[in-house]
Amino acid sequence: MKKIIGVDLGGTTTKFAILNEAGEIEQKWSISTDIEREGINIVPNIIDSINQQLSQSGLSSTDVLGIGMGSPGSVDIDKGTVIGAYNLNWKTLQQVKEQIEAGTSIPFYIDNDANVAALGEQWKGAGEGNANVVFITLGTGVGGGVVAEGKLVHGAGTAGEIGHMNVDPNGYECTCGNVGCLETVASATGVVHLAQDYAEGYAGDSELKGLIDQKQEITAKIVFDQAKKRDPLAKKVVDKFSFYLGLACGNIANILSPNAIVIGGGVSAAGDVLVDGVREYFEKYAFPPVKTSTEIKLAQLGNDAGVIGAGSLVKMSR
Ligand SMILES: [Zn+2]
Repeated sequence: MKKIIGVDLGGTTTKFAILNEAGEIEQKWSISTDIEREGINIVPNIIDSINQQLSQSGLSSTDVLGIGMGSPGSVDIDKGTVIGAYNLNWKTLQQVKEQIEAGTSIPFYIDNDANVAALGEQWKGAGEGNANVVFITLGTGVGGGVVAEGKLVHGAGTAGEIGHMNVDPNGYECTCGNVGCLETVASATGVVHLAQDYAEGYAGDSELKGLIDQKQEITAKIVFDQAKKRDPLAKKVVDKFSFYLGLACGNIANILSPNAIVIGGGVSAAGDVLVDGVREYFEKYAFPPVKTSTEIKLAQLGNDAGVIGAGSLVKMSR
């Protein structure tokens, strides 16, 4: 059986894995991402690291079916280029595929990081065995990826930008220039924004309110932890968050009828308290047959979703 290499390129760390064709991780390693000098060393460092690991493992380029990679920024999957990945300092067009294929002699495939994580969860995670999976990642921002009938959906280019689904036409301003995008209320910063807003007019007894009034730094984790402890203000905030995300999930499911909507990313570490609330509003807004055909699930692969999904890119290209 041949090997597959998965690469998950991030702003601080680049993660790698050697997988078998069944998607099982055989080796895993990582390097720090050198974003100095407009990220000029990022691709050469990836090439060196792959070549080094292969030779240490007694493998050659012919043992490898392909290299798949998830990248931030705007990815042209056909040309294998990336532009506008600001956390990598990549402002100009990067010829990633050309360089990596020249440097390793291995076929290379690339897609954006949220799409790749969606593929990972669909292949070996919470969506395993399902051909129709929507992935929503709740982190600093909100990203998404859609796998429909076994294929990653790109549309005319940017399908799956679930973070910019409108859930409140009178809502908070978004970095994209619009207002009320899901990202403004369901990202880590969005949850904090909701908490600060709700705290303002809140008169009851609440530990969360106390922390906010004392100008302590609030995080999404603090809000969810307080909700688990039944803090009344935190419960209100989590309920509003659940309403927005549940509404988005209902709308997504009505259009795509996925087997599963998988929720991942740092904020999803809150666990059951998060997914239970989302499910409640999902069931309120989903079209009746969709309520039973679509499951709302927590992601299972954590940090491995990226490298496994990147490996899936190689499998799917064949
Ligand atoms: Zn937006």
